[in-house]
Amino acid sequence: MTEFFEWRDAPRADFAVIGDPVSHSLSPRMHAAALQAMGLSLSYVAVRVPPGEVAPALEHLAGLGYRGANCTVPHKAEALAACRSADPFARRVGAVNTVRLPTLEGTNTDGPGFLDTLGPLGMPRGSRVLVLGAGGSARAVAAALEDAGYRLRLWNRTRERAEALVRELGLSADLSEHPDPSGCRLIVNTTSASLHGSEVSLDWGRVEPDAVAYDLMYGESPTPFLLRAARSGLRTLDGRPLLAAQGARSLEWWLGAQAPRRVLLLSLGCRGDELG
Ligand code: NDP
Repeated sequence: MTEFFEWRDAPRADFAVIGDPVSHSLSPRMHAAALQAMGLSLSYVAVRVPPGEVAPALEHLAGLGYRGANCTVPHKAEALAACRSADPFARRVGAVNTVRLPTLEGTNTDGPGFLDTLGPLGMPRGSRVLVLGAGGSARAVAAALEDAGYRLRLWNRTRERAEALVRELGLSADLSEHPDPSGCRLIVNTTSASLHGSEVSLDWGRVEPDAVAYDLMYGESPTPFLLRAARSGLRTLDGRPLLAAQGARSLEWWLGAQAPRRVLLLSLGCRGDELG
């Protein structure tokens, strides 16, 4: 459990992650390690902001002298609406995960951060990727993958939502009736199924033997999706390298200095070489 503050009781600090819930967030620990390694005496705290209160909470943090905030579930769309400006990628995917204060400029480091994590996996551009899910994170991941030249197959439990994602983002992804992994070098689980104790019913008999199974979720133990993938002999990756990559990019955007990616990874219990 991470110590956190209600937004009206937030202390003076430099950066925050805002979410609801936010007590599970590893961002304060990760950013503290990075800021220390950069030789900066800047602080980073966790702040709980209930849905519907993102705009006043960000104004309040700006008034306390905060220089930036990361926004996590469920606030990424609301953060976009609260920003005075946002970069084209954030506007296209409809989600801001990083806000610069007090100017209320928004960006999205999830998409580019996700691409950072593919480097060490040896995943050539043009490879086919199966994306499971059509929520907020799927929008950033799918847009980043297609922009980078990967070929997408998209499946979501609620098909209309997958159709809307493809239409709204202008993607040429194939929509799949079933989560079919055949021909895919990478299978990305962006669903929150594991959070609810359920599993996506992938046809594991059709996975490619050299495929990588990637779950955006992370926790104390591997998700059911990654456990199942490992039993099928696939290489697996959880969401910690993405957390580190998007965090590094947030720091670099706020501070204009190179973030210590290895330190961020090690603070999360990773090996340290997951971002190349
Ligand atoms: P959303 O709530 O926006 O989307 C949830 C998605 O999961 C929807 O596509 C939903 O399908 C699907 N889903 C939920 N339950 C089930 C189920 N039982 N079976 C199949 N599909 C299901 O969430 P986000 O996209 O914002 O986040 C998804 C996950 O990714 C979270 O666990 C989050 O923590 C993680 N994440 C990790 C990051 C990192 O840094 N590592 C960054 C961002 C996200 P439907 O449309 O049918 O409801």
